[in-house]
Amino acid sequence: MKKIDRYAVFGYPIKHSKSPRIHQLFAEQTGQKLVYTAREVPPESFNHALEQFLTGGGKGLNCTVPLKELAWQRADQLTERAHLSKAVNTLKLQDDGSLLGDNTDGVGLVNDLTVNHGIPLNNRRILILGAGGASRGIIGPLLEQKPERIVIANRTVGKAEQLAQEFSRAGNISGCGFEALRGLQFDLIVNATSASLSNELPPLAEGLLREAGSCYDLAYGNEDTAFVRWGQRQNAIQSLDGMGMLVEQAAEAFYLWRGLRPTTQSVIDLLNAERKGASVTS
Ligand code: NDP
Repeated sequence: MKKIDRYAVFGYPIKHSKSPRIHQLFAEQTGQKLVYTAREVPPESFNHALEQFLTGGGKGLNCTVPLKELAWQRADQLTERAHLSKAVNTLKLQDDGSLLGDNTDGVGLVNDLTVNHGIPLNNRRILILGAGGASRGIIGPLLEQKPERIVIANRTVGKAEQLAQEFSRAGNISGCGFEALRGLQFDLIVNATSASLSNELPPLAEGLLREAGSCYDLAYGNEDTAFVRWGQRQNAIQSLDGMGMLVEQAAEAFYLWRGLRPTTQSVIDLLNAERKGASVTS
């Protein structure tokens, strides 16, 4: 009898991951038989845990913080977007036994912004806050949308400058510190720092957001993040968190693994309803 195909997400920590729920919903929706689990894997155990997973029938893996760089190193082949981002969030076991590494975070963000929320990127001015792994993953796909310019602002200025330098051939992009943003204005501000995870806000001046501009926090929770609230105070036309991106990046991973593209809106609606319920009861 054919063994059931196994998928998983590895991270450290992983307890609150919504990925098993999302992939279970995708599998039900598309009539696919598969098992998707979450496993806490510290970085030093990554290679061993991956081999165990593959031996046990693993066909595909998602990797989250802090394992994306290790997954990038381990992949036998990389998609172009994973190669550029130097981070892999999706591994696929191929027929010849090799591992393909992809990064679906950026396309997940772009789909959530443009398809789900109708936020245009072409010819727009975009500010990205933060220069860590998530920023690396989203810059390439954002530049593909041909914005007028992208500015990366980071606490550690050298990291923003370095990141901008790496992508400079793909579009108009520069890096700086938060102070240097004074006097500039943007159509879209994307928070890719991890500040929201500790309910903090990067040091942002007033007036950075153009009239009718939007804000997007990659982080998400049951309550609005500090950055989503900041966007509301700046009169953003939309101030969103990263739940939609999470579902969209998962849909792209599911497509890579199963060759079927699940619809996302019903899953986003369900997760939004569930977290509303959770924030009322907590
Ligand atoms: P990293 O640890 O790689 O990078 C963190 C970044 O945040 C660095 O640029 C760091 O600056 C900056 N930072 C941290 N704290 C502060 C602060 N208090 N003020 C200003 N800057 C700060 O994290 P990731 O890039 O992997 O993740 C970033 C966020 O994106 C997380 O919230 C994560 O949950 C989210 N994410 C969401 C996804 C989704 O699907 N919705 C997918 C991937 C990530 P410095 O360099 O100076 O230390």
